[in-house]
Amino acid sequence: MAKQIHTKREREKDMVSEMIALYCRKQHGNKGGLCTECEALNTYARERSDKCPFMETKTFCSNCKVHCYQQGMREKIRVVMRFSGPRMIFCHPVTAVRHILERKKEKRRLGKLAKMPHPRRNEREYNET
Ligand SMILES: [Zn+2]
Repeated sequence: MAKQIHTKREREKDMVSEMIALYCRKQHGNKGGLCTECEALNTYARERSDKCPFMETKTFCSNCKVHCYQQGMREKIRVVMRFSGPRMIFCHPVTAVRHILERKKEKRRLGKLAKMPHPRRNEREYNET
């Protein structure tokens, strides 16, 4: 279990770095490196993932309800996600698809939890009439 969380954490960090690298390449014209600003954001984002206490229950930081990013960094990472998110599917189809699947899985899980109190109500009502 601990190993799974570790893998998830590493995967999230890789994902964030890929997104920042893509953003920097396309928006700041950097090839094969990050500019100072993006480097700082990258370091910050990886550090947040390292320290995230919700790694076990959440899927990705962008999905997380607890916003641990400080104001300025949160804005920056949002811009990066908005830019790189949809483009990841072309550059890294496998990673991107996995990201989408995990988001869907979590949404479904949250949806199920919401319906939990009356799981078979409709069925029972149908049988009683
Ligand atoms: Zn940059």
